[in-house]
Amino acid sequence: MTYDVDGNDTCESCGTVQDERSRALGSALLTLVGVGYLAALALGYVLFRGRPFVGGFSAVIAIALGRTLQTHVRLPVVTRRSSEPHTG
Ligand SMILES: [Zn+2]
Repeated sequence: MTYDVDGNDTCESCGTVQDERSRALGSALLTLVGVGYLAALALGYVLFRGRPFVGGFSAVIAIALGRTLQTHVRLPVVTRRSSEPHTG
């Protein structure tokens, strides 16, 4: 039992797979939020003709998008359990 995935004991190979999946999903979410922010920014400029609040408006949309994605796409919580000293 070298990994803990969402509180369950998991073997090395399954844990590694889950860990990679978690990282990939996490970076995909960040990318989506970034894209959403830019889209909101572009839309805001078109709709509101570049008024100063457009930046804040886009940030709020990006944060809301991030929260929505995190609730719907559940990231597995992967923790390495090994007590052996490990560098990297
Ligand atoms: Zn396994």
